[in-house]
Amino acid sequence: MNVYDGLRIASMLEKHGFTQTENVGDADIILLNTCAVRAKATDKVYSAIGRIRQAKKPNAIYGIVGCVARESGTDAFRRIPDLNFVLGPQSYHKLPEILSDPDTKLFDINLGGLEKFDELPPITKSPLVAYIPVQEGCNHCCTYCIVPYTRGPEISRPFNDILAETMHAANVGAIEICFIGQNVNGYKYTDKDGKTYRLSDIIRETAKIDSVKRIRFTSSYPTEMTDDLIQLFGTESKLLPFLNMPIQSGSDNILQKMHRQYNVDEYMQIINKFKTIRPDIQISSDFIVGFPGESENDFMETCAIAKRVGYINSYSFKYSPRPHTAAAIMQQQIPENIKSERLIKLDSILNDIQREFNLSCIDKTFDCLYEGIDKTGTKHIYRTPYMQPCIVETNNATPFAHIKITSANKSCLHGKIID
Ligand code: SAH
Repeated sequence: MNVYDGLRIASMLEKHGFTQTENVGDADIILLNTCAVRAKATDKVYSAIGRIRQAKKPNAIYGIVGCVARESGTDAFRRIPDLNFVLGPQSYHKLPEILSDPDTKLFDINLGGLEKFDELPPITKSPLVAYIPVQEGCNHCCTYCIVPYTRGPEISRPFNDILAETMHAANVGAIEICFIGQNVNGYKYTDKDGKTYRLSDIIRETAKIDSVKRIRFTSSYPTEMTDDLIQLFGTESKLLPFLNMPIQSGSDNILQKMHRQYNVDEYMQIINKFKTIRPDIQISSDFIVGFPGESENDFMETCAIAKRVGYINSYSFKYSPRPHTAAAIMQQQIPENIKSERLIKLDSILNDIQREFNLSCIDKTFDCLYEGIDKTGTKHIYRTPYMQPCIVETNNATPFAHIKITSANKSCLHGKIID
């Protein structure tokens, strides 16, 4: 979501004559596009702002946009009085207002819904992967999550706007389209003729674009997986066989306290539907350990579900109490050292599964999408359909290549391009 917002902000500033620089000391305007999901992310913003303040030109304007702006509100100015702007995730399109008068302060953390999408100029060049938002906000009210506060209620974008933006991204270079939303599979839009569109309709239309080779979406809420969408995995070959469907915890007791609207059995039934329709499908998840009241037994159930599903790639987090959320004021907060121990244990299980899956890919061939140069500056990185990074030595790195996997470890694959 923030990658997308960042590109749109960049194209807006480019229209006002700015170019990008990597060097804070050269910049005339500096902004941090921020995430507030965990406290650590918010803390990082304020330490980064401190460093920027030291390094920037004295007359450069600087500020915070995104979810930390919304979370902090006017407190951001109290913490850093000379900030020039604080703009929430649905008001960053107002940034140009400050360009006409850099001496003013710009503050807007209102939830403007979809307004920003209409105000921003389209991107002029797309990365090979284009992230296209289908909605803003979220209605799920998971008790740990700040997103409904920072990004507001869920609003689906008009179907035709999404298709137009997707078509444009393909025309300016995208080969893979990743549809994004906090609750992406809950997308539902009814036009003025009363016709309702779902995510499956968006994917079906997108698959007709010749130059688009791969389609995926993230993040999905398990019980919003409708049959039309599941069925599409059996018929639409451009849809990658890889799905992010966060379970968060393997304990029914904790799922209930999180206000997730499913139990482990129901979740498994959805996974099984996918496996029947698309046997080569693999799943990734997000996990939270140390949610208030999580017993050792609850945690063991999370470890058990991780093994049972065999998630090939997951994100696991220590529970972080957030303002404006119900869980932050629950009794039985778990001590930090226990959260850390549990995270290490879970990560070790997840790493083993990931390593095993990567090793099982040796000798297979995949259509892979180019990503960039590796750290050494000599090799190329591609992404497999399961989003594994695959390192390739070649003088002919095409955007989309057929690659045979030659070796693998926990974090990446190695392969060679075959014709
Ligand atoms: N709607 C998105 C949420 C994005 S946040 C989704 O369902 O994926 C990404 C992940 O951060 C969540 O899935 C959750 O695992 C984690 N997360 C959210 N709030 C958190 C908190 N307070 N503490 C720790 N992890 C959290």
